[in-house]
Amino acid sequence: MPIQAAIYCRISKDREGAGLGVDRQEQDCRVHAAALGWDVHAVYIDNDLSAYSGKPRPGYEAMLDAIRSGQVGAVIAWHTDRLHRSPRELETFIDTLREAGDVPVSTVRAGDIDLATPTGRAVARTLGAWARYESEHKSERIRRKHLQLAQSGAWSGGGNRAYGYTKDGKSIVPDEAAVIREAADRVLAGESLTAVAADLRQRGIPTSTGIAWRQSHLGRTLRSAHLSGQREHGGEIVAVGTWPAILTPAQTTRFRRMYPKGPGRPPKTLLSGMLVCGRDGCGHRLLAKPTGGGYRAYSCVSGKERGGCGLSVTERPLDALISAAVIEALSTPLLGQLMRAGGIDEADQVDYATVAEARTALAEVGQARADSKVSTAAWMAAVTPLEAKIEAAERRIAGRHRHSALNDLGDIAARWPSLPVDRRRAIIAAVVEHITIAPASTRGQHFHADRVSIVWRV
Ligand SMILES: [Zn+2]
Repeated sequence: MPIQAAIYCRISKDREGAGLGVDRQEQDCRVHAAALGWDVHAVYIDNDLSAYSGKPRPGYEAMLDAIRSGQVGAVIAWHTDRLHRSPRELETFIDTLREAGDVPVSTVRAGDIDLATPTGRAVARTLGAWARYESEHKSERIRRKHLQLAQSGAWSGGGNRAYGYTKDGKSIVPDEAAVIREAADRVLAGESLTAVAADLRQRGIPTSTGIAWRQSHLGRTLRSAHLSGQREHGGEIVAVGTWPAILTPAQTTRFRRMYPKGPGRPPKTLLSGMLVCGRDGCGHRLLAKPTGGGYRAYSCVSGKERGGCGLSVTERPLDALISAAVIEALSTPLLGQLMRAGGIDEADQVDYATVAEARTALAEVGQARADSKVSTAAWMAAVTPLEAKIEAAERRIAGRHRHSALNDLGDIAARWPSLPVDRRRAIIAAVVEHITIAPASTRGQHFHADRVSIVWRV
């Protein structure tokens, strides 16, 4: 008797592309079954328009029951993304198939999925992770190119004008250089960054972008090697620059010892801020934190200030799992769907205009202050609401354009390892609402993929 196969179809909003309705899925699966010589025992269908949120799927559950009772000896689906919506579901699926005697799975689009061997399961669990390793030599080449450029001592350019220098980095701005030298002397003499930044604010001295100095910004500025005419690359000093120095290399060395990581810098971890504690009744955000063993973890920090429960998950395997899941998601028609939602609309034009206006006003106030035409108090009173206005408008724009992080991705799997952390974070944030981490069922640092549930945005 031929193998009795179950066909599973799911209609969903999440990855639906043209012609992916249930009828089309079923038809393709039937042709696939015939090609394999399997009989179609039953067709299970779910209408799952709420997508990844973990809503029950009666058809899927009925299919698992049929596998458990032995009525069904094989599974056919259009693509793996029809079958599992989360690592947790994949694990349940794997267990069910194994207990029923290694029931085979075949898909129209992705071929056979070998869940009967450890290797096959590892491939299924890490989804597209292998592509990442294949492309690593490619990203190595790109890194070398950037390093070469840095080693030539060229001004790094791009972004905002560096405080103390003209935009092209060729000349010093004398007033600003004096502020840098004064701040450097005072901090090296023992004054705190906070005190010096507060004093600069008091005196109405703005940064190169016209905003008021803050402790973190001042610290970042002082530890930048370009102030002593040196070129930095990847956090290291790699060459003598081709531009004039404001501080001495010895001063830079001292600031870099005082602020080894650059104070106030945003966290350079892939997932901090996106992870939510899944322990019952907790729900705190997880923070990246070094642990005793020399590796990093995301942790639900306990203690009076944070009030978390102490749950923790190792950083690297989680980063790899989420990267693989996002790459997989973006390699599907979902990407096209998101990008179509990305154009600039009227609300944006209003917000862009607000930002431009406020920036002009800031520059004018900054200039008036520099020319001593307004008092410090008046300057402060003008700057604060303008800064708030810009921040609010930029937040609104970013909120509407999470998806613009997805433009020009190209071959995402190949490019992923060479993208900067900030870019990878933006891409993840564009498609992932948040990620819940359940408490570990065993002690120790071994990573269990079934603790992870991804809540997708679409
Ligand atoms: Zn917690």
